[in-house]
Amino acid sequence: MYEGDIASVLITEQQIDEKVTELAKQVADDYPADRSDLVLVGVLKGAVMFMTDLARALPIPVQLEFMAVSSYGSATSSSGVVRILKDLDRDIAGRNVLIVEDIIDSGLTLSWLLKNLESRNPASLEVCTLLRKPDAVKVDVPVKYVGFEIPNEFVVGYGLDYAERYRDLPYIGTLDPKVYSS
Ligand code: 5GP
Ligand code: MG
Ligand code: MG
Repeated sequence: MYEGDIASVLITEQQIDEKVTELAKQVADDYPADRSDLVLVGVLKGAVMFMTDLARALPIPVQLEFMAVSSYGSATSSSGVVRILKDLDRDIAGRNVLIVEDIIDSGLTLSWLLKNLESRNPASLEVCTLLRKPDAVKVDVPVKYVGFEIPNEFVVGYGLDYAERYRDLPYIGTLDPKVYSS
């Protein structure tokens, strides 16, 4: 699939699988099942693969909510100005909420999202991201669960796209430069 478009595989399907299991254990330890169901908030569309795998790996009941946001800025860097395209279906007041992200780059989108969700008075609010890039340290956002720290390269696969393509790859890789120039 996508023959020749992928320059290198950064994280294999098996490495993702092992990491999801590991993260699920950490999360489950922190949220005993005797409290009300944990609410996973996924940010569309990139976090979908990670969110559904994480939900199935978690040995505690979870509820799934999705938000779609668009950040103003260029295609490759975000400005931190965010607009809600699709909001949560339910009230999260008093609930334990875990934001599930595909990747944190500048951290601006997440910083905005944390403020927005915090204002809805959840009982708790934490973040779980599969990937984090080095620039994320510049914005002070508390991220409790991180799968992989990756270098400052543009990656695709496992939910992450380039022009809406490659989300369906089961692994995470970098693109051949010819893809950008065609
Ligand atoms: P931030 O506000 O943290 O800069 O933006 C995060 C969003 O930018 C991610 O949810 C994702 O949509 C996009 N993004 C950042 N880095 C990458 C990358 O390497 N690959 C892809 N496909 N999207 C990225
Ligand atoms: Mg995202
Ligand atoms: Mg994208």
